[in-house]
Amino acid sequence: MISVAEALDQLFVLAQPLGPEVVPLLEAHRRVLAQDVAATRDQPPFDGSAMDGYAVAEVAPGLRLRVIGESAAGHGFYHPVKSGEAVRIFTGAPVPEGAKAVVIQEDVSRDGDWITIGDSPEDNSHIRPAGGDFRVGDRIAAGRILGPNDIALMASMNIAQVSVARRPGVALISTGDELVMPGEIPGPDQIIASNTLGLHALMRDLGAEPRLLPIARDNEASLKTAFELARGADLIVTIGGASVGDHDVVANLAPQLGFEQSFYKVAMRPGKPLMAGRFGDAMMIGLPGNPVSAMVCGHVFIAPVIRAMLGLPAEPAPRRTGVLAEALPANGPREHYMRARTTADGLVAFGAQDSSLLSILGQADALIIRPRKDGPRAAGETVEYLPLR
Ligand code: AMP
Ligand code: MG
Repeated sequence: MISVAEALDQLFVLAQPLGPEVVPLLEAHRRVLAQDVAATRDQPPFDGSAMDGYAVAEVAPGLRLRVIGESAAGHGFYHPVKSGEAVRIFTGAPVPEGAKAVVIQEDVSRDGDWITIGDSPEDNSHIRPAGGDFRVGDRIAAGRILGPNDIALMASMNIAQVSVARRPGVALISTGDELVMPGEIPGPDQIIASNTLGLHALMRDLGAEPRLLPIARDNEASLKTAFELARGADLIVTIGGASVGDHDVVANLAPQLGFEQSFYKVAMRPGKPLMAGRFGDAMMIGLPGNPVSAMVCGHVFIAPVIRAMLGLPAEPAPRRTGVLAEALPANGPREHYMRARTTADGLVAFGAQDSSLLSILGQADALIIRPRKDGPRAAGETVEYLPLR
């Protein structure tokens, strides 16, 4: 059995970045920028007015000036303004040549074509210089996850389409004769496929494009069909059938259907019977079926894999440190991801940690990480955890 860290190392060997695609800027939100972008213009493109007022060549208390024209946003005034003159101007309008400042309209009294500057005009010029926001060629570097602010900036740079990392296509295959989909009527010995939908949501959050395949039944023909339907995926994720029981189809049958295994079994709790490798052109991860095991493996392994496929740094899920509000007993030989909640006093692990209890996972907002063979921990000690929200 390998450690979580070793498993991640092997997963990063399997998970190669997928390369870019070009999308319209409107579709770029939450995508990973794959190539630097550069501004195609200066912003503002001209010296612009920051206020409504009068553009003038000189400012002095009591100065009387003749208004020779008007410059509004989208309607510039393209004659020089000289000593003794003023141009009526509005926010966002080009400042005429020769103007040194914009006197705000509150500091001016107007009489027909004449204005008089008041007793104490502000000394702020209220002119936004050309290129004051950015200049042609200013860059946004590849590798960032684009958010609303980036989109606004790129729009201002007149970038209408961007090169982003292609979304990993993930085929999700649940296995089990006992499973039905939510909304269906289960038989007396059946349950509802749950982690399948949770993993689908997780992958969407991560920027992948998950696809739920029909549930594979616990026989070779059904699993084979599922793998055929998975064709074209960058990543195949199977759920369940990963242990060594008679009915564990993935562990028993996937190798003869084309699965080339890199590793099987990780020293962790929950989630021990994890496997990974390649299936044809795709990477494959076989998750244990227990609902919490599958979800924890999603956070610990699949999230970093998807990020690596998106060209983000290949690194484990980011950990935080927190203080224990209650003592914890010694840990066994497997790294333990304990469902816990964060409170004002610190982290509190739930008493029940069985890998089937989704209700506890639903209440948890943290997974406390207990290293292998970690000794007992007292309240007040610092531990590492994975935030779940
Ligand atoms: P398995 O790994 O197939 O032996 O499954 C372990 C446990 O997880 C069994 O109790 C299964 O019924 C359950 N299980 C397997 N797959 C799913 C799933 N997609 N959703 C919910 N429970 C599942
Ligand atoms: Mg099963």
